[in-house]
Amino acid sequence: MQGDVLIREVGPRDGLQMVRTILPTQQKLDWCRLAVAAGLHAVEVTSFVPAAVIPQFADAEAVAAGALRIDGLDPSALVVNLKGTRRALEAGLRKLTYVISASEAHSAANARRSTDMAIAEYARIREEFDTLFRTGEAELAFGIATAFGCTIQGAVSTERVLRLVDAACELGAEEIMLADTVGYAHPDQVSALFVKARARAAVPLAAHFHDTRGLGLANVLAALQAGVRRFDASLSGLGGCPFAPGATGNIATEDLAYMLEAMGWKTGIDLPALLALQARIRPWLHGERMESAVVRAGLPLTMASEESH
Ligand code: ZN
Repeated sequence: MQGDVLIREVGPRDGLQMVRTILPTQQKLDWCRLAVAAGLHAVEVTSFVPAAVIPQFADAEAVAAGALRIDGLDPSALVVNLKGTRRALEAGLRKLTYVISASEAHSAANARRSTDMAIAEYARIREEFDTLFRTGEAELAFGIATAFGCTIQGAVSTERVLRLVDAACELGAEEIMLADTVGYAHPDQVSALFVKARARAAVPLAAHFHDTRGLGLANVLAALQAGVRRFDASLSGLGGCPFAPGATGNIATEDLAYMLEAMGWKTGIDLPALLALQARIRPWLHGERMESAVVRAGLPLTMASEESH
């Protein structure tokens, strides 16, 4: 008997940040509504970065406000600094993920700051959180990007990632997420890093994999076996950089849900409803790369015939 696994849909954030189509706010909210109807309650709905950096998220406040009115939705957002955190909290969100790069080169290129500066920023955000909220009232996750390698500097050492895990534990975090931002991870590496992280962190660990080199689901399995029960995924693997040929987005939500359900894990997701959602959203993102093996092949009879709930 397998237990529960949380799938967090990050398509509206990670998936959309790289696509050329700017989705209207209403469609982003319709996506969230359809996700809830498919049993996908945890959705990372937006990112509080300056609109000049990523125009897709110029409507972050409106998306957050709309998302908070959707019954059954458990919305979260990504933040990279105190300013964005204040905007997200002001908009009413109570679940945030702060992202920090394990790779010094990625941190400098992406956020124009060193990893140590990013830790100091987290400390400020954490302090604000702890002043505003009592335990259980809000959640701030500590996400570690490029935890398995970096397209700028190459290898990222385990020691470096574990130092960040330790920093998160010391400062406090409701969740620690290890992200394979660029799709460099392989299952043995995933297993080794999560086992080490688990030995240090008492809080839940989450995994965020990109399927750039086809190892996304294999990495999920390795993380599952290391005790991870929270996974990010994006609809049809949306995302990827338009300037990097062959780059892809996250692991596809449909394929992740299919694998977990087939293995007997409980995701709460209604697969036929998830495929219906995909069919609704696909035309909104015409011309964008959207790939999922389950969408391509359909559900096997053994699962398609299951009564949807
Ligand atoms: Zn990502």
